[in-house]
Amino acid sequence: MWYVQRAIIYIMVTIGGLYPDNLSTNELISIKDIQNKESKIQDSQNSYPFSLPSLPYSTSSLEPWIDRETMEIHWGKHHKTYVDNLNNACLQHAEFQNISIENIFARLNIPEIIKNNAGGHWNHSFFWKCMTDNSQRKKMPIHLQQIIQSSFGSLDEMKNEMERQGQARFGSGWVWLIQKNNGQLAILSTANQDNPLMKSSNVQGKPLLVIDVWEHAYYLKYKNSRSTFLSNFWNVVDWEAVAERLSST
Ligand code: MN
Repeated sequence: MWYVQRAIIYIMVTIGGLYPDNLSTNELISIKDIQNKESKIQDSQNSYPFSLPSLPYSTSSLEPWIDRETMEIHWGKHHKTYVDNLNNACLQHAEFQNISIENIFARLNIPEIIKNNAGGHWNHSFFWKCMTDNSQRKKMPIHLQQIIQSSFGSLDEMKNEMERQGQARFGSGWVWLIQKNNGQLAILSTANQDNPLMKSSNVQGKPLLVIDVWEHAYYLKYKNSRSTFLSNFWNVVDWEAVAERLSST
């Protein structure tokens, strides 16, 4: 009967008003659930279930510097495997299903399987966005050039240092241009799928540019010559994207 229902609702609202903390806890949970679902829809690459992003160019458009076959295997096989393995790992470690990938990196003790595959997914997603086939975007913006000069002396010195660290990375890894909290730029190399967003990283900072120095990134075209791959990489850098990542400090 409707008046009984109304009376029950009235009592519940009254109790809710007397004990607002109880109600607000429930409300907070439901709002959080909705926000989680919304953020998943907005950014399906950055939270579970993770998905392979599409490339911002065709697999052949970075030729002759990076060949089509390397791109197809690197993106379509290697990167996809990290995405699949990360989703599978999240089934075993359900606590990582409801947080963004950046919040996974912010934790100190990440299970190795989550760390390696989350790093593999994030690093590759970022790497694709560091390159372009658009000649306009390959031009060096003035404000980026200025901060590179103040951090390294010149663009050539910055490039030389990235190539040197990329060459010196034993085994597999990445070489990063980052922006530190003080606004200055720095270069560092990470092993395997580690990155400077990880709390466990020796040097932390905001990634601006990265080069993948795993053999799978260059072996089909450059064979054992990582140094030639590194020196050719500058032909495909999206400097406009690098500049857009700079924080104004
Ligand atoms: Mn790779």
